[in-house]
Amino acid sequence: MQELLERKKGLHRKVLIVDDEFIEREMLGAMLNDLYEIGYAGNGREALDMISSEKATLSLIILDLHMPELDGYSVLEAIRADNEMRRIPVIVLTSEKEAEVKSLQLGAADFITKPYEMPDVVRARVQHAIELAENTVIIHETERDELTGLFHKEFFFEYGKRLDMQNDNMPMDAMVIDINRFHIINELYGREYGNDVLKKIGDRIHDLVKETGGLACRFDSNGFYIYIPHGHDLNKIISDGLDKINASLVDSNISIRMGVFEDDGNGLNMEQRFDRARLACNKLRHSYTTCFDFYNEELHSKELHEERLINDMEKALAEKQFKVFYQPKYNITGDKPVLSSAEALIRWFHPEFGMVSPGEFIPLFEDNGLIQKLDRFVWTEAASQIKRWNDEYGIYLPVSVNVSRVDIFNPMLGCILTDLVNINGFTPEKLLLEITESAYTDSSQEIIDTVKGLRNNGFKIEMDDFGSGYSSLNMLTSLPIDALKLDMKFIRNICENKKDSRLVEIMIQIARLLEVPVIAEGVETKEQMELLKSIGCDIIQGYYFSKPLPPEEFCKLFRN
Ligand code: C2E
Ligand code: CA
Ligand code: CA
Repeated sequence: MQELLERKKGLHRKVLIVDDEFIEREMLGAMLNDLYEIGYAGNGREALDMISSEKATLSLIILDLHMPELDGYSVLEAIRADNEMRRIPVIVLTSEKEAEVKSLQLGAADFITKPYEMPDVVRARVQHAIELAENTVIIHETERDELTGLFHKEFFFEYGKRLDMQNDNMPMDAMVIDINRFHIINELYGREYGNDVLKKIGDRIHDLVKETGGLACRFDSNGFYIYIPHGHDLNKIISDGLDKINASLVDSNISIRMGVFEDDGNGLNMEQRFDRARLACNKLRHSYTTCFDFYNEELHSKELHEERLINDMEKALAEKQFKVFYQPKYNITGDKPVLSSAEALIRWFHPEFGMVSPGEFIPLFEDNGLIQKLDRFVWTEAASQIKRWNDEYGIYLPVSVNVSRVDIFNPMLGCILTDLVNINGFTPEKLLLEITESAYTDSSQEIIDTVKGLRNNGFKIEMDDFGSGYSSLNMLTSLPIDALKLDMKFIRNICENKKDSRLVEIMIQIARLLEVPVIAEGVETKEQMELLKSIGCDIIQGYYFSKPLPPEEFCKLFRN
């Protein structure tokens, strides 16, 4: 760009004159050599050699059509076919009117007729052709991403909208492409490698746009948007595109995901189309098996429903639509099962949707941080419930609460929990903390430090969903935990599936090694309970004993 601007100021431009007739070459040269640096070539072949070795610096080519060996048309064609030479403007020297059409079709910028016109006219034509070409390059460079040659997103949307207007809002399809885990690729293999990946994908997108008459941009560091007229076979385009991209990225484990909005005749505008394609693409973020998906109405209503839940959350808290239920855990190591603690589980009684399950809203609230507020509400409720039961029944029943991974990054976590037990006048080991195994594997050191701090304050930690994360034995032995809670999925088929029962036995052995008790949740039948007891499981939670209950029902269990 800088170089271009300097050249624009008239610093230094080189013009190549290609003519087999010495006199003509020299005459033309004489008209221009006070303004430009002039190079000469006496035939087409010589000219092409010079052009290709000086393609970065040439400002203009003046080309005679009739030459021996390689004529002017062939030179023009060769220039057009080369990505870099193509930007150099060509003025054709001719004496025949018919030649003009053909040269124009081959991309000539202008003509100078033989015998030559007045020198001033020739000079004006030369200057004009150079200026025009340079302006085009400047525009091209500001509009386009340097690396891939695709539009920047601002120009993309501007041209896209213009295209829509000019074509009477014809139906258009929208595609969003993201490269999975691109920042990791950059980190692992270096920026240059990352750039190469972007370029290769960019090249495929150029092809696609050419074939379909569409428009594309590099949207951000790892994503592309493509806008194409509706009516193409999208399934074929996508599978061909994916094949080509995968073929050009062979030796890498790079993968892309693609969200597609296919025009549905509802007259959406460009932005709305891309919002929908983006939604379809984002839904694939956590999928390892699917690499493209079409937007559909179901996805949209799910999105709207999720929006509603997120928007309603604060009001729901204020209006007490959330209730904490308690599910008992029984110690089965003795002759008779003994109630040993409970897990606090949130329930949402939504005025419109009825009971909404935490499986539905917890992940949403984890994504945007709302979970911290909700968890704090549950902890507060659970702590006062522990006190209330003690006041009424004279027993301290420990209650476990779920601590989401987002909570762990709150530096005030220890203070919040300690305050809660102090206010209610009991010791910290009665408020058990469940932390899911995958939280440890995601960001181990930070979590380990926080959890160590909590234990130093007297809290007991249960590792939830054990077996679903990827803790190594080595890591487990260094983790600060007080109980292992097996992931429910191992219990479901434990009586039918020998492999599952073997796995549970192994997990129980690990717990023995760590000298912590094992809790099995999701236990629904007597057979499951007995099997678990026979292989050494200590504590059981599940429908076999009881579903999660509101506190006023839970307290009936104290009387048994
Ligand atoms: P989780 O912590 O693994 O909780 C166990 C889930 O298993 C609960 O589902 C419980 O109702 C269910 N369950 C218990 N016994 C059985 C059984 O015998 N059979 C079957 N099929 N299911 C059983 P729930 O209450 O729907 O909660 C789902 C998840 O939502 C919880 O999984 C937990 O991760 C999250 N969650 C619930 N309450 C809270 C909360 O207050 N805070 C946070 N951060 N997460 C919560
Ligand atoms: Ca739990
Ligand atoms: Ca669990």
